[in-house]
Amino acid sequence: MTLPLKDRFALPEGVIYLDGNSLGPLPRGVDDRVSRMITDEWGAHLIKGWNVDDWMAQPIRVGNRISRIVGAADDSIALGDTLSIKVYQALAAALDMRPDRRVILSDSGNFPSDLYMAEGLIGLLGDSYELRIVAPDAVEDAMTPDVAVAMLTQVDYRTGRMHDMDAITQAAHAAGAVMLWDLAHSAGAVPVDLAGAGCEFAVGCTYKYLNGGPGAPAFIYVRPDLIDVARPALSGWLGHDAPFAFERSYRPATGIERMRVGTPPVMGLAALECALEVWVDVEMNDIRAASLHLSETFIAEVETRCPELRLVSPRNGSERGSQVSFAHEHGYAVMQALIARDVIGDFRAPDTMRFGFAPLYLDEDDVHRAVAILADVLGGRLWDRPVFRKTTRVT
Ligand SMILES: *Cc1c(COP(=O)(O)O)cnc(C)c1O
Repeated sequence: MTLPLKDRFALPEGVIYLDGNSLGPLPRGVDDRVSRMITDEWGAHLIKGWNVDDWMAQPIRVGNRISRIVGAADDSIALGDTLSIKVYQALAAALDMRPDRRVILSDSGNFPSDLYMAEGLIGLLGDSYELRIVAPDAVEDAMTPDVAVAMLTQVDYRTGRMHDMDAITQAAHAAGAVMLWDLAHSAGAVPVDLAGAGCEFAVGCTYKYLNGGPGAPAFIYVRPDLIDVARPALSGWLGHDAPFAFERSYRPATGIERMRVGTPPVMGLAALECALEVWVDVEMNDIRAASLHLSETFIAEVETRCPELRLVSPRNGSERGSQVSFAHEHGYAVMQALIARDVIGDFRAPDTMRFGFAPLYLDEDDVHRAVAILADVLGGRLWDRPVFRKTTRVT
């Protein structure tokens, strides 16, 4: 199928949406699907829905749709909770696999929540544990024999810089460490081959490039040979081997079900399951080729027409995910002025403007128009107004 597939998305007329790396747009059909779930399933079937509508099977069924996007085997991914929770769960299970080691290795480009969750876990485990944070390009050399787990986000949320998943996983394994990848900015953005990489754990969210909607549930992957030895730290009843036996003590389920915690977010999963249908019709390699073309066009045009912006993403496409970032001293106000003109990106402190390129619903013409408006906003200093300096809770 040729990209883009604009008619599969309900984007507002006139909007150029360059923020699918933060919250994907609404795929057509999701509103109907969720509405039907509410009336025909919840409304009509009440509690019978758990069985007749198979709500209980959703977390693994939807996981199998995501498996195909990230190169994982069937029944190796479970959905539920938020990404921060899934990071904690994977990290705890990974540390448990290396009881004689005490270091969690991460990099300074990681998303703060991942690092905060590691700090929280270390706080519980005791002070002999250490979160060691190095520069992104120093990660491979930092794989020393005391590293229990390497926990990295493949694509940097600020710069779009992308780690070499295979090489780093190999380096971690050579040092005897467990590898945990966060695919928040990879799933649906770049081709990922979890089975090929051989990492033990991966986690990711579904409201970014997978378009599952605000607050859509996160996913966790465990390498198939380890699923039945990974110890769940968040031992909720739906990860129990027999939840409805209501036994006195926890016994983990066999299979990836053990990474479930509590009651699944049925409505969110219904939205996500419908949103994922578009991926059946596309190849990740085609998405990648189109994303590189859009990003490269954007970089070239911005550098020609907006010389006051400074590229903070890697120039080489193979080292970049699907977003491009430019810095500007007044980046926040510039972005607000752009949004007022219906070109939607976002801003990360202190000075980074982020532009995400999702080839499912963007084409080259969108890129040309976005740069023309950006050039207008900068050239005419249209951003230099108090209304664009006003900060909001979410940037
Ligand atoms: C978006 C993102 C998160 C967000 O976590 P939530 O718990 O879903 O809010 C966490 N980690 C990374 C790397 C992200 O990019």
